[in-house]
Amino acid sequence: MAHSKALLVLENFIAGKFVPCSSYIDSYNPSTGDVYCRVPDSGKEEVEAAVKAAKAAFPIWSSKSPLERSQILNKLADLIEHDLEAFAQAESKDQGKTITFARAVDIPRAVYNFRFFASSILHHTTECTEMATMGCVHYTSRAPVGVAGLISPWNLPLYLLTWKIAPAIACGNTVVAKPSEMTSVTAWMMCKLLEKAGVPHGVVNVVFGTGAKAGEALVCHPDVPLISFTGSTLTAQRIMEKSAPHCKRLSLELGGKNPAIIFDDADLSQCIPTTMRSSFANQGEICLCTSRVFVQRGIYRDFLKRFVAEAKKWKVGNPSDPTVDMGALISKEHLEKVRSYVKKAQAEGARVLCGEGTDSLVLPTGNQKGYFMLPTIIAEVKDESCCMQEEIFGPVTCVVAFDTEEEVIERANSVKYGLAATVWSSNVGRVHRVAQRLQSGLVWTNCWLVRDLNLPFGGMKASGIGREGAKDSYEFFTEVKTITIKH
Ligand code: NAD
Repeated sequence: MAHSKALLVLENFIAGKFVPCSSYIDSYNPSTGDVYCRVPDSGKEEVEAAVKAAKAAFPIWSSKSPLERSQILNKLADLIEHDLEAFAQAESKDQGKTITFARAVDIPRAVYNFRFFASSILHHTTECTEMATMGCVHYTSRAPVGVAGLISPWNLPLYLLTWKIAPAIACGNTVVAKPSEMTSVTAWMMCKLLEKAGVPHGVVNVVFGTGAKAGEALVCHPDVPLISFTGSTLTAQRIMEKSAPHCKRLSLELGGKNPAIIFDDADLSQCIPTTMRSSFANQGEICLCTSRVFVQRGIYRDFLKRFVAEAKKWKVGNPSDPTVDMGALISKEHLEKVRSYVKKAQAEGARVLCGEGTDSLVLPTGNQKGYFMLPTIIAEVKDESCCMQEEIFGPVTCVVAFDTEEEVIERANSVKYGLAATVWSSNVGRVHRVAQRLQSGLVWTNCWLVRDLNLPFGGMKASGIGREGAKDSYEFFTEVKTITIKH
């Protein structure tokens, strides 16, 4: 198909150059429903070229000192920060998220990812033990692994991609990255800054395209010993199968079905606005979003009334309007999927208290074909319902009552996922007890989404394998060796 001049056309970034592709796929603006961008439909051939470039760049990059790499990462952070507004506008248009969220969260965090790993790479230590009886000293040394394959999803595009690129290259690896085919623009914009930042050609290569073609070619490539993947549990299963013949090192950050547990001594003035954000921020399209709210029976009615009242205040519409709280969902298909869960809940006898099918959504003229829905709260849902078991990944949250601590821990743990939980109580003993027993990689008490990048991030059960963070990413992106010296 001929490319219209009005459309943005992306190119792969291989060996420091933008390279056109022989075929392209359409990318939509979720807030208007229009195609506005064409993304390379890369496959084996493009991945092969990118891996070759990354392999060629590895000897030079891996032999640079941590300080030299750190300076380059910091420079890249400065350049992205300098263009923060352009990046935020692009992310909002490409993903459907509000410009406010892109300005405050996505792009600042992408900048910080580079600054953080630029700093942390300078401070790692290795281990050493002395074995006096044998006249030996043992120590460990760490070296980069080689070409890292990095695959990221569409919900926090540049934020999550840089959470992988930054530690990978800080440790001395070279990379082939594949962003989601639905949100490729900010990765392409970042490539334009690499040379100016001093990143040598071939250190960062970005191949655009679908998971089935480009993603799988990367996963199956014999010269890519390591894959860092963030996305759905289903795709992770496929990646594990496809990489098994090569025994690849995998880091898998996957889906969630995150509980918020609200005890009757919680400070509701803090809890309600935070649970609104934890349920509906970024259209509920954050792996850490709350989707099951357990409220202790004594405060259940009061909580529900106030929570629904807050949800009704949220403004849904044009993401570039700074007064809007919730933008568009990523795609038409995803919107239909999220809506179908609300219908299933209704069919099972649950009550939709606000949002989808209950309140009317009024959209600006230019956004009538966009993929919008209102924040939706469902009550009286059974724990076995698919709405309480499966990841919906949209602005839908279920609220149910509980009686005892013992009961709520069991119910919160009764899903296949284990990513993030939130506990609300003013009893410090109770929050410790509950946090210890929840099957969850992250537990926030009396807050949500407060992160220290030094500490491990990742999920239990079907929510992932491995952890990322200062020390964990360093360990994942390096190979350790134990050396023994006898005197
Ligand atoms: P997805 O699994 O469909 O896709 C993620 C990435 O994998 C995309 O780049 C896609 O093109 C690629 N991919 C798809 N099939 C592939 C294959 N066979 N081989 C290689 N790559 C393939 O996920 P999504 O819909 O883009 O993202 C939403 C999911 O991501 C949700 O489940 C969400 O919970 C999860 N997520 C998890 C975290 C976390 O840190 N745990 C963060 C954000 C999102």
